[in-house]
Amino acid sequence: MRARVNGSWEATVPFWPKAAIRRRADRRLRHLARIAAQHVPFYRDRLARGEMHITELRGTVDLAGWPIVPPDALRDEPERLVSEQADLAHCVRFLSSGSTGGRKSVYVDHKSLIHNAVYGTLGKWVIFKLTGALFRLRSVAIIVGDGTLDELGQMYADAFGTPRSPVQGGQLEVFSPFEEKLEVINTIKPHVVAGVAGAVADFFLEAHDRGADVHRPKLIKGTAEGISPRLRQRLENDCGILVRLSYASVESLKIGFQCEVGDGYHIHEDVCAVRIVDDDGQELPEGETGRVIVTNLVNHATVLINYDQGDRGRLSTAPCPCGRRFKRLWLEETRETPMLRTPTRQVLHYGEVLRQVIDGPGFEAMQIIVESPDRWRVLIHTEDNTHHTWHDEIAERIERMTGDEIHVELNMNTPFEYSAGGKQLPVIIRCSDQPPYLRDSEC
Ligand SMILES: [Zn+2]
Repeated sequence: MRARVNGSWEATVPFWPKAAIRRRADRRLRHLARIAAQHVPFYRDRLARGEMHITELRGTVDLAGWPIVPPDALRDEPERLVSEQADLAHCVRFLSSGSTGGRKSVYVDHKSLIHNAVYGTLGKWVIFKLTGALFRLRSVAIIVGDGTLDELGQMYADAFGTPRSPVQGGQLEVFSPFEEKLEVINTIKPHVVAGVAGAVADFFLEAHDRGADVHRPKLIKGTAEGISPRLRQRLENDCGILVRLSYASVESLKIGFQCEVGDGYHIHEDVCAVRIVDDDGQELPEGETGRVIVTNLVNHATVLINYDQGDRGRLSTAPCPCGRRFKRLWLEETRETPMLRTPTRQVLHYGEVLRQVIDGPGFEAMQIIVESPDRWRVLIHTEDNTHHTWHDEIAERIERMTGDEIHVELNMNTPFEYSAGGKQLPVIIRCSDQPPYLRDSEC
């Protein structure tokens, strides 16, 4: 069945009166809670065992009475969070990147995908306000090649038909050489460059440092990962390119977006509910920083009510000069994954290395430690010891990807390591005082 949603009408939602936005969110939550209590084993069993005491979930204000789903639940018992009513053959299964939190699998139903596509993470209006281009918008995306995106693209095409004003533009892979990126960007002269924000930022800062003659887009739009505030400031001040990011995750899809004003993320309040709690799970007052808890209101396949997103931030309902009524979230830190580089300054994203190992039987998670500019240790966790059948060639495959510029040492099933700041990140750079990583520490 072809589902259609009126995109222009939906794009007005952020400007609706707060009460109307809340009514829509509450209606969606009531529907979701009924599905959870009757058809999702994780919630149903807890209710039956008396571990959850829910009489009624009338609206998002009642979410404080529901337990928090820890990230572990999605890793350890993902199938128990899936509704028995979901038609899995028509869902898209997303896998998280398999970084240090372990792999998580989430089923997203067709309707939810449409809600997520209707007004993109960064709406046309924001882009128009910032670039002055509404039609014939030229854009280039710098991406990590991934089959899931093609499948998603196909579903969107089925749901919406061919877009009326197709975006003119191109696609580049993160690992494509600097000169190739330069040529494509100078030929297309995009208004917007999107994709893996870290890689996009890296390209324009590299061009700036080299004094290269590069076309400067009006806007950098980040979708996959955040850029640190200092990096963003350099792009805006030194390169004169505006940066707007969206906040999204595999578990909850789109969560928030930066408007033309660019101060905090407006929460997509009609498709997700965001709460801030302390370490004991108690709701914090507006303005206080705590754990970000997200409820995806529209996905009826993997049902996540009060999911601990693993981020920290604070909320505000103060009006934004842009006029949108969606409340805003400020994240304490972005989940930034540093870009990997070779001694000749080729850039690689963690996801590209991950592609070399993710299909290995029993693969669970991977961490990359950059010990020196030409030596990486790749730590891989697997379910059992069957990895002996496949892991031998991995180091060689990764080395080949880097043009044999990097020597790779593989550590199987050794504990993941912590950064100097005490964090277990997917990528840890131990030589940020040396080129080609020097710029990262300056930023
Ligand atoms: Zn705003």
